[in-house]
Amino acid sequence: MKILVTGGAGLVGSHLCRKLIKQGHEVIAIDNLLTGSKRNIADLIDANNFTFIYNDVINPIDIQGLDQIYHLACAASPVQFTKNPLHTTKTSVIGTINALDLAKKNNAKILLSSTSEVYGDPLVHPQNENYWGNVNPVGPRACYDEGKRCAESICFDYHRAYGLDIRIIRIFNTYGPSMDPKDGRAISNFIIQALRNEDITVKGDGSQTRSFQYIDDLLVAIDKMMNNKKDFLGPVNLGNPSEFEIGELANIVLELIPESKSKIIYVDLPQDDPKRRKPDISLAKEKLNWEPRIKLADGLKPTIEYFKNFIEEEAYLNSEEISKSGVKPNWQIF
Ligand code: UDP
Repeated sequence: MKILVTGGAGLVGSHLCRKLIKQGHEVIAIDNLLTGSKRNIADLIDANNFTFIYNDVINPIDIQGLDQIYHLACAASPVQFTKNPLHTTKTSVIGTINALDLAKKNNAKILLSSTSEVYGDPLVHPQNENYWGNVNPVGPRACYDEGKRCAESICFDYHRAYGLDIRIIRIFNTYGPSMDPKDGRAISNFIIQALRNEDITVKGDGSQTRSFQYIDDLLVAIDKMMNNKKDFLGPVNLGNPSEFEIGELANIVLELIPESKSKIIYVDLPQDDPKRRKPDISLAKEKLNWEPRIKLADGLKPTIEYFKNFIEEEAYLNSEEISKSGVKPNWQIF
């Protein structure tokens, strides 16, 4: 099949492209590299069934012969999506209209990656897909939360108006190798801080909860969702229901990096930070026969390795000898 992945250089997109290429598909990745990175797709760039297009999904693009579109493009971490909120809204809304138009032109199936953020600061726990959420429509997170809610609504309008074959997934907190070190997420921050012996910044009193899903589990679910023959459109929650307090997460990370000299400190909680988040995945179990298998400690180990390598590579590239020589790794060149 000929498959487009928007956001193809991000955490989810790069792993997805790798999997689709291995399956023998012709894969085109689009990314504006705002939060995605060439480093994440450096091993794919020479594959003859892979094409990378540097483009922002806000700008329409014409590609022919597509069978499927995975529409993942959008900054997904609060630090990143609040940096340029208007761009976040445009990405979610205009970007999704552009992706849907492309799907319509090609008569392609399209999967939208939505988010647990559509539930806002939920008043129902755990969250199932019938819960309509508790989003502050004028708060700092609204650009993403409302943007994705609108993206879901547009997908269903294209389905109702044109019979477009759509799929919608709501991704809960996901982690793994290829996370953006600048994402400012709890997992990436805590690991980087622990590896650098810096203070671990727990926001608030650390009693807020999240449920963390390892990337490999998500990839299995995405495949099942896109390729299910049951015409199950979603939206469906994809996440790991094991719930952890953020303070607890900080301690788990420290236990996994025993050489760290870091101490936990408590800093201000951002506005509208959800207090509890845990997916009800009954629907995914029923419709997709899927549930996550990878435990937090098992997923954190390769993630820590990834950040260790990242920090070492960064130190190497910044070393005086290397910066003077002008040597660049291949991901900096293409
Ligand atoms: N968080 C934290 N320290 C950090 C980064 C995040 O305590 O250095 C908190 C954040 O305030 C939130 C939780 O960890 O309560 C999860 O944040 P993350 O950005 O990973 O995901 P999201 O808020 O999108 O669920």
